[in-house]
Amino acid sequence: ATFGNLTDRLTDAFKKLRGKGKLTPADVDGTVREIRRALLDADVALDVVKVFTASVRERALGDEVNKALNPAQQVVQIVNDELVTILGGKQRRLEFAKNPPTVIMLAGLQGAGKTTLAGKLAKWLVSEGHTPILVAADLQRPNAVTQLQVVGEQAGVPVWAPEPGNGIGNPVKVARDGVKEAQRRQYDTVIVDTAGRLGVDAELMKQASDIRKAVDPDEVLFVIDAMIGQDAVATAKAFQDGVDFTGVVLTKLDGDARGGAALSVASVTGRPIMFASTGEGLGDFEPFYPDRMASRILDLGDILTLIEQAQKTFDEEEARKTAEKFATDSFTLEDFLSQMQQLKNMGSIKNMLGMLPGAKGMRQQLDNFDEREITRTEAIIQSMTPTERRQPRLLNGSRRLRIAKGSGMTVTEVNALVNRFEQAAKMMKTVAKGGVPQVPGMGPI
Ligand code: GDP
Repeated sequence: ATFGNLTDRLTDAFKKLRGKGKLTPADVDGTVREIRRALLDADVALDVVKVFTASVRERALGDEVNKALNPAQQVVQIVNDELVTILGGKQRRLEFAKNPPTVIMLAGLQGAGKTTLAGKLAKWLVSEGHTPILVAADLQRPNAVTQLQVVGEQAGVPVWAPEPGNGIGNPVKVARDGVKEAQRRQYDTVIVDTAGRLGVDAELMKQASDIRKAVDPDEVLFVIDAMIGQDAVATAKAFQDGVDFTGVVLTKLDGDARGGAALSVASVTGRPIMFASTGEGLGDFEPFYPDRMASRILDLGDILTLIEQAQKTFDEEEARKTAEKFATDSFTLEDFLSQMQQLKNMGSIKNMLGMLPGAKGMRQQLDNFDEREITRTEAIIQSMTPTERRQPRLLNGSRRLRIAKGSGMTVTEVNALVNRFEQAAKMMKTVAKGGVPQVPGMGPI
C-alpha cells in the first residue's frame, strides 16, 4: 500500500520506546530523528517535515502528559495528532450551493485520474441522494469525451458533451452550456471535467481559469496522483496560482509508490484533502477523513470507514430479513449467494481488510486472499436449480456431481461449499436467537 513503508518505519520507531517508564530528552530526540527520516524517505516535503518534527519534539518533551497512557503511547498519540494536522485537521465536506445546481470543477494534470474521478464522484453523489450531471469540457485529449460518457453510463448519470459543430473546440462554451443545461433540467450538481496536460503549462492554466470564470464553481477540486512523488508540491502550487482550488482529491492511493508528497499538499496549499481514490473501479472512492488516514498510516486501524461502507452496502431492512431467516431456519443458498454478492459490492476485499487495525501484519495473508473464491462460489450456486438453492437438503451425491460438472468445479469443492453454508447457517441461527456460537475446535468466540 502507498503508506506501507512509512507505517513500518514509524511503528518501528515507536517499538523502541516500549517498556520505557519515562522518556529522557535523548529518547525523544532519537525517536524524532527516526520520524524525520521516515517522513523524508516517504517523500513528505522538507518544510512540512521540519514543522512536524519540531512540534512532536516540543510536545513530547513538554509537560502535557496524558496519565492514562504510557510514554510510548503518548508519543504515538502526539504523532497521530500532528499527522491529522498536516492532513488538514477536521474533515471538510462538499459545500452545496443555496441555489442549485452546485457546480464542481475538476482540475489537474493529464492522467491524474480526473475523468475516472468524475464518475466516482457522480456515483457517490447519487448514493447521497443527489442528482448529478457530468460535463465534458476536456476537449484536449482525443478520447476524453467518450471516456466520460462511459463512466457516466457506469455511474448511471447523464453526460453533457459537445455536439459536432456546436462549440466543439471551445471548452469554455461547453462548460457554460453544460451548467445552463443542468439548471434547465434541474440537476442539483454539475461536475465539470477539464483538460489536463502532461506537465503544467500556461495555456492549460489559462483555459482552466477561463472555465472557472465562466461557470463560477462552488468547489474546484484539484485532482492529484499520489504516486507523482516530489513533483506533487510544485504541481499543487502551480495549480493554486493558476486556477486556485477549494479542495484536493488524492488518487491512486492503492499504488505502491511513496505517497508522502501528496500528504504535503494540504499543508503546503492550505486546502483540505476532501476525497481519496483507491482503485480503478467506480466504487473505489471515499470521503477523506484526516483522522482516519492518520490512524491508517500509524496502523491504528480505520474501523469507522469500514463500518460506514458496510452500512451503505447492507441496508438495514435486508439485514433484518436475513436475521429473521436465520432464526426461523429458512436461510437458503440463494440468500447466501446474495450476501456474497453484496460483499463483492463493498469493493475490493483487500482494501476493506486493509482498514482493520493490525492489518499490516496480515498483509501477506491479504495478498494470498483470493477474491476469485467468491466467483467460484457463485458459479457453484448458479449451477443449482432454484429448488436446490432453497432446500440444500436435496443435494445428494448425483445432484452434487451434476453441479460440479455444470460449474466446472470438483465434487469436493461443491461439498466444501455446502458444509460452509450449513455451518454458517447454524452459527447465525444461534446468534439470531441470542446465543453464543461455537466454532468447531475453537470454543466460544
Ligand atoms: P485524467 O487524464 O486525469 O482524466 O485521468 P483518467 O481518469 O483517464 O485516469 C488515468 C488512468 O489512471 C486510468 O487508467 C485510470 O483507470 C487510472 N486511475 C484513476 N484513478 C485511479 C486510482 O485511484 N487507482 C488506480 N490504480 N488507478 C486509477
